[in-house]
Amino acid sequence: MAYKHTKFIFVTGGVVSSLGKGLTAAALGALLEARGLNVSVLKMDPYINVDPGTMNPFQHGEVFVTDDGAETDLDLGHYERFLNITTTRKNNFTSGQIYDAVIKKERRGDYLGATVQVIPHVTNEIKDRILAAAEGRDILMVEVGGTVGDIESLPFMEAVRQLSFDAGEDNALFMHLTYVPYIAAASELKTKPTQHSVKALLEIGIKPDIIVCRTDRPLPPDVKKKIGLFCNVRASRVITAEDEKTIYNLPLALHAEGLDDQVVEVLKIWAKKPDLGPWEKVVHATMQPSDSVKIAIVGKYTDLVESYKSLNEALKHGGIANGCKVELDYLDSERFENDEAALSAAVGDADAILVPGGFGHRGIEGKIAAVRYAREHKVPFFGICLGMQCAVIEYARHIADCPRANSTEFDKETPHPVIHLMEAQKNVSEKGASMRLGAYACDLTADSKSARAYGQRHINERHRHRYEFNNTYRERLVGREGAGAMVATGINPDLDLVEVIEIPDHPWFVGVQFHPEYKSRPLAPHPLFAAFVEAGLQRKKALRA
Ligand code: GLN
Repeated sequence: MAYKHTKFIFVTGGVVSSLGKGLTAAALGALLEARGLNVSVLKMDPYINVDPGTMNPFQHGEVFVTDDGAETDLDLGHYERFLNITTTRKNNFTSGQIYDAVIKKERRGDYLGATVQVIPHVTNEIKDRILAAAEGRDILMVEVGGTVGDIESLPFMEAVRQLSFDAGEDNALFMHLTYVPYIAAASELKTKPTQHSVKALLEIGIKPDIIVCRTDRPLPPDVKKKIGLFCNVRASRVITAEDEKTIYNLPLALHAEGLDDQVVEVLKIWAKKPDLGPWEKVVHATMQPSDSVKIAIVGKYTDLVESYKSLNEALKHGGIANGCKVELDYLDSERFENDEAALSAAVGDADAILVPGGFGHRGIEGKIAAVRYAREHKVPFFGICLGMQCAVIEYARHIADCPRANSTEFDKETPHPVIHLMEAQKNVSEKGASMRLGAYACDLTADSKSARAYGQRHINERHRHRYEFNNTYRERLVGREGAGAMVATGINPDLDLVEVIEIPDHPWFVGVQFHPEYKSRPLAPHPLFAAFVEAGLQRKKALRA
């Protein structure tokens, strides 16, 4: 069995949600990896949706797509950015998937007449999947979504309790993340919420080995001692996790608090001290930038930066690659529909413009107007997925004599459907997991901006969309010549689809049908984001000169 070789770190959360459990787990994973251990991560989500693909990003944040085409929780993005792993559908599951599998087994008769129950059938299904994710790893970190006390996370808590028992002494560790608020009126850090949440954990048979406390200031020794005393944990295993100026300082901060030392001690692992040089460099580049660029992001989910989590981070990585700070200005495209003055006022001082992925008609004309502005004013432009589609529509309307060109997503009757539904999508009626998802190959044209950025011509990137460039318009749109012509510089070799468009006669105008942001990491910034930020920096320098 896999657990004979793998040690488990179970991560639970208490007091309130949104404390950054995934981030803390990811940062600990980075530390353990830096100590030479082979670590993987699993996130269990207690909601009933089969995956987050059908959820509104306002509520749930970004949907993270894996190479193998799973639509997963955004915490998997943190794991890929902090750890040297490429996740798959095995690294995230939901209650919906568990119940779906159990009910299918019951209908097939697999349970041989047994009464199917939460314990053992649901918990066994959960345990089997945890063990599958543990295969071949020194350590598997298992994050239980939700907050202790939630009704819906109980089967997960019970499964990890059982698994820790099965794994045996020294092979499982419980790390509990809580919140220690500072109450100004009393000038005091309050430990009671932490005590209560640990009590709730104890009630279900889980005793934390390490307590990580989210707080806005360091916990003094007496506070750590008090938490330790009430919660049966040594004071040295009560860890402060302060608010950080950059999330990439988390591995360094948690190491300074002794977190990874405590983990290897509890799990009785011999491991070298971590090499944190690469993380120190990332933090240095982030905190001491030599310049800055301002990037206007013209999209829809403007209130929630969480909806564009990976994009946000990938742009920061582009900044790290160039030693500069990236200021992100999220602009609601709806404001620019039929209002050119508002658009130029909003993007006028941006060094670069980006139109990200998105769905639905709202705000689309504002995005197309922003593309036009970038093209005509020679402002570096990056279009991602829907952003690339907007660039094609804009070009068709204003350069290629198709004034009413559109995507059939927004106008079914358009005389020029330059973006249309993929053949494979025409008979799809279910919403869940039915898009073009996951990694696809793409061949780049030699000497194109994208090939130069990647430093290679064969790439693989992740997709999540239903519509695509209409090949009927290929000649009319990307077959033109002369100044300002658009060219197709990335083609899917298997499906003959246009995946990348560029305007060579422009400082930097690149649109990609895929989502490069999913693969960017602070220790390995994505080449397209590095090149885009560099183009913004060059524009800024040229204007300054
Ligand atoms: N709505 C577009 C499509 O489905 C773009 C999707 C996206 O940007 N992820 O093709």
